[in-house]
Amino acid sequence: CGIVGYIGTKKASDILVDGLKKLEYRGYDSAGIAVLDKDILVYKQPGKVINLEQSIDDKVDGITTGIAHTRWATHGEPTQENAHPHKSNNGEIVIVHNGIIENYKFLKDELIDHGFSFLGQTDTEVLVNYIQFVQDKEKLNIEDAVKKALQNVNGAYAIAVLDKKEPNKMVVTRKGSPLAIGLTETNDEFYVASDAIPIIEYTQSLVYLNDDEIVVLERGKKMKVTDIYGVEKSYKVKNLDLNL
Ligand code: GLU
Repeated sequence: CGIVGYIGTKKASDILVDGLKKLEYRGYDSAGIAVLDKDILVYKQPGKVINLEQSIDDKVDGITTGIAHTRWATHGEPTQENAHPHKSNNGEIVIVHNGIIENYKFLKDELIDHGFSFLGQTDTEVLVNYIQFVQDKEKLNIEDAVKKALQNVNGAYAIAVLDKKEPNKMVVTRKGSPLAIGLTETNDEFYVASDAIPIIEYTQSLVYLNDDEIVVLERGKKMKVTDIYGVEKSYKVKNLDLNL
């Protein structure tokens, strides 16, 4: 339902929780965040963002990368296990996802055949494990693993992905589900959200991704957009110029 992401210099969890509150108007049944430095820490709760906020401890202090989600369940009950973010079986990749993976059953059976197990019932948990499966099999970095995996995925999605092995990066992509990126002049901070509202108080330079476009956000580097086959895409920065 709602996505927020941040990679930069400030305390990520504050920006994420604040962003989730701004997306509450969309409706949701559970909420969660994952932050990453040496390890991935996940906090998630059924119910309101305030429940989530109260569960977050001081281990998140000093961590400047993270992804967040408010879930509107489509596959699996609104339980803690089914709330996002979801980690892959090896604990190294973590994802938030809006939308529906249509062929998740097919992919899940394939993963089970390869020894994967699942904590909940979501299509999202299938997707993150499928990304791990492709990464392990083909020895790919995270952006190439996401690209390759999505070539075999049907459905609608906006996703944000982190990989513990590459803590300086966030990978985001969408198809049929909106996703905006907030840019800063120095490229040392990037904001991500499923609509502009959580971003505009920090930056009003926005890029709306098109279907099948994928972006790697890396501290200190200019954003680069390609499609899921690796073809480079140009993008337009929208300057909102709001007086907030
Ligand atoms: N299909 C996913 C789930 O049920 C995501 C739903 C959403 O967009 O919040 O967990």
